[in-house]
Amino acid sequence: MPRLSEVTTALAALWPASLAEAWDAVGTVVGDPDSEVNRVLFAVDPVQEIVDEAVRIGADLLVTHHPLYLRGTTTVAADTFKGKVVHTLVKNDIALHVAHTNADKADPGVSDALAGALDVRVVRPLVPDPTDPSGRRGLGRVCELEHPLTLRELADRAADRLPATAQGIRVAGDPDATIRTLAVSGGSGDSLFDDVRASGVDAFLTADLRHHPASEAREHTSLALLDAAHWATEWPWCELAAAQLDEISDRHGWGLRVHVSRTVTDPWTAHAASARPSPAATLPASAARTPS
Ligand SMILES: [Zn+2]
Repeated sequence: MPRLSEVTTALAALWPASLAEAWDAVGTVVGDPDSEVNRVLFAVDPVQEIVDEAVRIGADLLVTHHPLYLRGTTTVAADTFKGKVVHTLVKNDIALHVAHTNADKADPGVSDALAGALDVRVVRPLVPDPTDPSGRRGLGRVCELEHPLTLRELADRAADRLPATAQGIRVAGDPDATIRTLAVSGGSGDSLFDDVRASGVDAFLTADLRHHPASEAREHTSLALLDAAHWATEWPWCELAAAQLDEISDRHGWGLRVHVSRTVTDPWTAHAASARPSPAATLPASAARTPS
């Protein structure tokens, strides 16, 4: 059975900390480097529900995409939600390791997993890492569809292939537009609009798109937008990462048992939509515009 330090060294080779953004907090958050690891759980969010799942399945190591602490803290008291997470982990001898923007930029990384889930072929990074001579690392991915789809068909595929969430897939653009090329970025992607426009793709699939950047992108170009739940765009990475660790475990004869959490930790839990065909039809009569 490997020690935690051996496993985290292997994880650091997959997702080097040097790739992380300067503001990020990646690596081991909780854990004794000398403790033994047998069972590992991968998840997107280090929230109590996931930590309870790690306890339930007898995990020794929880690997999450999102950091527990991103800024400095002065307390891990158990009456704070993050402090309770730390207490639960320590009491149950479970380590926590985070791979965030280092996993975004890695090859393969979060957006490769997203492209894989959508069954589109990765051509190159959307924002290449200038320090990578292979040109494969970086933020987001530019992808090609094997066969062109309409925007409607692509949205249906995303809804089918990504884990289901209350949000579903929001779409902006002509549903009958032909999509041959697609940029994808797991997590919040609206800071990447300039790179997406420069890449000349037909569509952009990401999460957390805000009104103004999305509206401006639509006004400037015919770029179609697909906005999925943040959690859903990053969850495919858990399966990719688990498969990578499985392979390492086999190679070293570690015999690790590697699990992926299926718990939906997207904070949005319900979605209300009118059955009426046009969003405008839902305006109260007093607010409806009358032709002048
Ligand atoms: Zn994220």
